[in-house]
Amino acid sequence: MKFDLKCSISLSRDGSDAKKSVEEFFKNFGEGDIKWKIGGESLFLHIISHDKRSHQIVLQLYKRLAPIFGRHKIGMRGIHIDEYEIEFEIEKNPLHEISIPFATLEFHNGIARMIIKDKGEEFLREGYIDRMIRLVREKIEKQYYEGKKEYWQLLWQSEEKEHAWDRDPSEEMQRRGWIKLMGKGKWFYFPPAAAIMRAMERIAIEEVIRPLGFKEVIEPMHVSFETWIKTGHLEGMPGEIYYICEPKSREAEEWERFVDLLKITRRVDEEELMKNLKVPKEGVCYAQCPNIYAALAGRTLAEDDLPLLLFERSTPSDRYEAGGKHGIERVDEFHRIEIVYIGTKEQLLQLREKLIERYGHVFDNILELEWRMAKVTPFYLQQAGIAGGEEEEAKGTIDFEAYLPYRGDRSKEWLEIQNISIVGEKYVKAFNIKTQKSQLWSGCSGIGLERWMVAFLAQKGMEPDKWPEGFRKYVGELPEMPKFL
Ligand code: ATP
Ligand code: ZN
Ligand code: MG
Repeated sequence: MKFDLKCSISLSRDGSDAKKSVEEFFKNFGEGDIKWKIGGESLFLHIISHDKRSHQIVLQLYKRLAPIFGRHKIGMRGIHIDEYEIEFEIEKNPLHEISIPFATLEFHNGIARMIIKDKGEEFLREGYIDRMIRLVREKIEKQYYEGKKEYWQLLWQSEEKEHAWDRDPSEEMQRRGWIKLMGKGKWFYFPPAAAIMRAMERIAIEEVIRPLGFKEVIEPMHVSFETWIKTGHLEGMPGEIYYICEPKSREAEEWERFVDLLKITRRVDEEELMKNLKVPKEGVCYAQCPNIYAALAGRTLAEDDLPLLLFERSTPSDRYEAGGKHGIERVDEFHRIEIVYIGTKEQLLQLREKLIERYGHVFDNILELEWRMAKVTPFYLQQAGIAGGEEEEAKGTIDFEAYLPYRGDRSKEWLEIQNISIVGEKYVKAFNIKTQKSQLWSGCSGIGLERWMVAFLAQKGMEPDKWPEGFRKYVGELPEMPKFL
């Protein structure tokens, strides 16, 4: 690595008076290869370092030079980067061009050169440089796994079953008027459909969640950017979030023109609307776990109360899904129960076994599904898994999938209906959640109620008398549709 920094520290007045003292100081300062010059109201520095980062050196210098200039009644007024050239090793050369903000990049023979010009002190103080180096590495890595599929390994599969029919339940429900599309990927559930979904919810709660000791929480639907920066959602899926704008004001006068235009044209004047909205600072719930972690941020959990087991079922999840939307199985707003568990690694591994057992009980004995479980690892984590050994092996996601007969091919037409994840220290660290002695791990499991419903109806059909006894007990008599003329 090579950190070659040319920068200037501005002084409150001509610095010549301090020249002797500064010279004395640098004689005893051991770090890096440093050239300096006082010119008018600036101290120019040229620092070349190979191990310690030059931007750390300059911050250290700044602190120690302040009292020296101070003795001559000269104040220091911040650092400016004139040019910062950083060379660092990369494992592989990029496959095609890479760019990042604030710097130009060059690559040759396993070395990346990053050049930053004419920037303020925040680049040195606030960790930008290290994050820029990490971003370059990440972007190179990504070029190598782009297009590769996530790793999928079958863990278990139920026996083949005979299914009641081979039609698409969303289409049939639409035909009967049970569900109605309300704009892009959002459905209205009339009483029979709502009753089925609520039965799914009760099954999950009474057969899995309560028996394992989870307690209910209710969270806000809005999630702040701060929270999503910590979980990584804002960098991971900014294009899937529904953003929320507050109005600039709730005063009627401020909205007068907007209302007048609406009254005259019966249309929303978009330009006028945008004038009245603030820039978003939050978005609609994407998954419930981020707000649960945010609510626990900074807390120390009592060791004897572990594992902490919580669930949330009040807040729908909204996602701006692009292609692949179909019926109620891939939608822009869906209903999930999410459970979150925080405890020691051993506790979570035990819990995962119990969850698998309970979910299996539901799918086998109540919904009587043809289903399977697979361990999935996104491609970029696969190397980490190999490198990390047993510790990394314990983390990861198990997907639960159900076969959809209406789609045909049994070898590939399976739908993910839920998952169980253990993420290790990632989130407890990000939100500074601790316990007295042990290292905490956490994880979550998201139960997609639309997905349970589609899987069940696709396999069991739409005739309640033919449904498995276990499910009929939960759903009871289906309510009738309103009578339309
Ligand atoms: P996919 O790869 O299908 O997009 P995902 O990895 O985005 O799924 P997760 O974020 O892991 O899904 O969410 C967990 C559960 O939430 C899924 O198992 C599924 O039950 C449900 N889910 C996710 N996206 C949707 C959607 N668009 N419509 C309905 N349910 C969904
Ligand atoms: Zn989650
Ligand atoms: Mg998705």
